Amino acid sequence: MKESLEILEREIMNGFKAARSAVDIDNLKKKYLARKGPLAALIKELAGLPAEERRILGEAINEAKKRIEGVLDDALATLRGAEKSERLGKERLDVTLPGRSLPSGRIHPVTSVTSEIEDIFTSLGFEIAEGPEVELDYYNFEALNIPKDHPARDMQDTFYLSGGVCLRTHTSPVQIRVMEKRRPPLRVIAPGTVYRRDSDITHTPMFHQVEGFMVDEGVSFSALKGVLTHFLHRLFGEDTGVRFRPSFFPFTEPSAEVDIRCVMCAGKGCRVCKGSGWLEILGCGMIHPNVFKSVDYDYGRYSGFAFGLGIERIAMLKHGIDDIRLFFENDIRFLRQF
Ligand SMILES: [Zn+2]
Repeated sequence: MKESLEILEREIMNGFKAARSAVDIDNLKKKYLARKGPLAALIKELAGLPAEERRILGEAINEAKKRIEGVLDDALATLRGAEKSERLGKERLDVTLPGRSLPSGRIHPVTSVTSEIEDIFTSLGFEIAEGPEVELDYYNFEALNIPKDHPARDMQDTFYLSGGVCLRTHTSPVQIRVMEKRRPPLRVIAPGTVYRRDSDITHTPMFHQVEGFMVDEGVSFSALKGVLTHFLHRLFGEDTGVRFRPSFFPFTEPSAEVDIRCVMCAGKGCRVCKGSGWLEILGCGMIHPNVFKSVDYDYGRYSGFAFGLGIERIAMLKHGIDDIRLFFENDIRFLRQF
């Protein structure tokens, strides 16, 4: 029996020498030191021996077991420690590496031009107002001195909904809605979306306008010229030439169209300005007495001017864009350029 104990111990030690990893050692432990393993079997055999022999052999088995356990556990601890540091070495995080940057969005050119226009006018004491895009025929036309039989209704091909409702064709109805609720003095701009039945290289069925107006006692055409010239100089640069041309709109009298010196050719004449050297940029005029009548303002006491401009047109001129449809196609290659 002593012999088989020695053989067993040698066998385990040989297995230990061959072990390459913590898993190997662990397997040795499971194989030899388990409750039903070979060492346990030897202990069982002791039962049949005389008392003295049983004591001596029992001690020998216990000592051998302790030796084996000691050697295997030490080896296991060493191997596990080595494996852990190897793993930590491999998984080390280099905190000095630069982070991965996420692609950031850009502000849409229509939005950025709108903000720029808003900034200029709010710095002049104008406030910003909004109105509905689905508008009553009354606010879109009638209250703005465009009666049912007026030819201007053909000029602006309108998306009509049922029962005197349409998609607003301009931001001018906001003028009526604000004046209806409040009394002068008023300095207001109303940027927003408008809709017309129109689609080509310079027109889209949906586009953006800014309406602006100022009403008070003694507001003159020279105030209109002063404010709009200042605005255009801030938008396009101090040296930009500005001219006012007589024009016609139902809701203003007198009316004017405002041109700036062509930003593409500096007035020499090019394709964009059709050789004229000037670019039509906005419409304006003194608010018509009939408009004041519809909001119950005293025309003798108050006067005011109003103007309107297309935001896409400004953005096209500022960025040299030749097709308005690019703004709404959401082509990321186009949008990334701003
Ligand atoms: Zn030009």
